Amino acid sequence: MKKVAVVFNGGTISMKVDERIKAAVPSLTGEEIMSMVTGIENYANIESYSFSSKPSPHMTIENMLELSKFIRELVDRDDIDGVVLTHGTDTLEETAYFLDLTIDTEKVIVVTGAMRSSSELGYDGPFNLATSICTAISDDAKGRGVLVCFNGELNSAAEVTKVNSMALNAFKTPNFGPIGIVDNNKVFFYRNTIKHKVYHVESIREDVALIKCVAGMTSDFIDFVIDKGYKGIVIEALGRGNVPPEMVMGIKRVLRKNIPVVVVSRCFEGRVHESYGYEGGGKMLKDLGVFFEESMPGQKARIKLIVALSSEKAIDIKESFKKNINDTNN
Ligand code: ASP
Repeated sequence: MKKVAVVFNGGTISMKVDERIKAAVPSLTGEEIMSMVTGIENYANIESYSFSSKPSPHMTIENMLELSKFIRELVDRDDIDGVVLTHGTDTLEETAYFLDLTIDTEKVIVVTGAMRSSSELGYDGPFNLATSICTAISDDAKGRGVLVCFNGELNSAAEVTKVNSMALNAFKTPNFGPIGIVDNNKVFFYRNTIKHKVYHVESIREDVALIKCVAGMTSDFIDFVIDKGYKGIVIEALGRGNVPPEMVMGIKRVLRKNIPVVVVSRCFEGRVHESYGYEGGGKMLKDLGVFFEESMPGQKARIKLIVALSSEKAIDIKESFKKNINDTNN
């Protein structure tokens, strides 16, 4: 029987309502959660690890690196076939993508959690854990990068984002939909997974800012970020990748300091492209030297820029962002 390491790292899956304050707080141990996944011993041998009991808004980039190193050691072990990680759902897509960018393995790594705490009717933690473990033992799931498993749906960490603050199927892949499903404890894939560069990262920098564009925005936030000494900026631009004209001066100042600027769209679906030639339009930004990350929310483009800037090999940032992640191959 295959062996799966289940790493408990907090989130709603490990929470219970504290009756004094009538709100969910971390309380369950990994063993307590695993005991609710009845019958799983017929599918896999489980080795549990308690990494943390953090709510995911408490996760830092440094914590993501610690997790990455921990999981790298697990997947390097011959006796471990796959790894399942629990995580709070709020920043799950950031950690899952970080792991995807920094762990080079063919073994299956699945990130999961719960949208309802163990005090609520319809607690989804045990089901999500069971389907994640079934995914971790699937030969078909190997070599597809880090997967995110919720509500019986599998999404690639490189593509997924949280789209709903309360629904059980809160994780979706914009533009495409899930890459697979878990049906009757078996995994079925609809399409191939993206291959992308894996970065060797041993220490991390966190000083990459994310700025979301709104109508009438000026360069004030960009100037603040420059003054604070940030080393990279992601701009969640409007539509196809355009910014209000008053932001252009700030972007020019950043680029003059050789600080990379990555542009994504604040739109949920679609791609950025240098379609518009007016002041602040995508064509102007591209000509100034910003990088376009074609279809990714700002919080994930920030993870990618952080990882690229922290890479041990002096990887040219231009190289990392020259193509859409969907197109790049090792
Ligand atoms: N706020 C919680 C967290 O991210 C939500 C969850 O786990 O679903 O830790």
